[in-house]
Amino acid sequence: MSAPNLELDALLARETRTTADLEALLSPGADARIQSPGGLEALAKASADLTLRRFGRTVTLYAPLYLSNFCVNPCVYCGFSSRQQVARATLGEDQIRAEAASLRDRGFSHVLLVTGEDRRQAPVSYLERAIHVCREFFAHVSVEVYPMDRDDYGRLVAAGAAAVTLYQETYDRGVYADVHPGGPKADYDARRAAPIAAAAAGMRGVGLGFLLGLAPWRDELRGLFVHAQEVARASWQTRLAFSFPRLRPAAGGYSPAHPVSDAELARMIFTLRLLFPDAELVLSTRESARLRDGFLGLGVTRMSAGSVTTPGGYHEKSPAGEQFAVHDTREPAELAAVIAARGLDPVWKDWSEAMTEAP
Ligand code: SF4
Repeated sequence: MSAPNLELDALLARETRTTADLEALLSPGADARIQSPGGLEALAKASADLTLRRFGRTVTLYAPLYLSNFCVNPCVYCGFSSRQQVARATLGEDQIRAEAASLRDRGFSHVLLVTGEDRRQAPVSYLERAIHVCREFFAHVSVEVYPMDRDDYGRLVAAGAAAVTLYQETYDRGVYADVHPGGPKADYDARRAAPIAAAAAGMRGVGLGFLLGLAPWRDELRGLFVHAQEVARASWQTRLAFSFPRLRPAAGGYSPAHPVSDAELARMIFTLRLLFPDAELVLSTRESARLRDGFLGLGVTRMSAGSVTTPGGYHEKSPAGEQFAVHDTREPAELAAVIAARGLDPVWKDWSEAMTEAP
């Protein structure tokens, strides 16, 4: 065994790891060890042990609720792109209630409100109202919408939003410019600043991520790592979450230039667990049932289930276009049964929210 291999084994055996360990985990020596027999399993075990200590045996279930698919940005990889000719819709209050009731009836207490990026179709006042409505149905409401400044995030916090998710998509500025050829999203720095503003505004959770496949994953992980540290510095009370959206077929048929394998996805998940022991790690229905089941207990702490990526799609057959094709199409109860069969606890209600609620 070479010296770098010994270095990785020593790193995994340590009780705590430092930020300097990122490069060790991405090094050629780590590659050799992880690609050798039992190497990825050793990384998985370290991740699983840490997850068990920090989160117990829980896996939180949530559902995305698409409020609007209007978007002013021409992102080349997305079904909601302004360049796509898809049916568009923004839900009214009655439709939001119907969607929320449908999700609550399936057991959810945790919902993620999603819009495309069009402030005229979904202004902050609309989002405030949607959050108010959803708080009648759910204990935990988070949002995935356009970037905002600190004041606007503060309005969402006051309305009852617990967390915000905003992917940088890629940390490679050149690739970013290529795939975001116009609209407000073309401003890389404004997007990057928004999650930091959300944390400063008092958002209890901030979710980050990049689209897997746009640029080499090691470089993306380095960019994500630095960004996450900046968010954490903005508010020590904010809990970080990381998602792993692997590019999936969508309207427009974009093919990723740097496809990410299952083994590489696993390595990213385990690496982030080791470096951010308290972060939520999220795996959505973009991935297959087989792969999602395989990650149970190994580091992932939050999963979406039964997702529909069209506005209005839960309570009726919606004519609006979808953002991407869902891969794991199982009903939430089916996934919950699989989680329980693995000896884990499917959690419908976010525990941190439950701890802070009034009796
Ligand atoms: S990724 Fe977001 S901003 Fe880009 S087209 Fe899709 S919905 Fe709009």
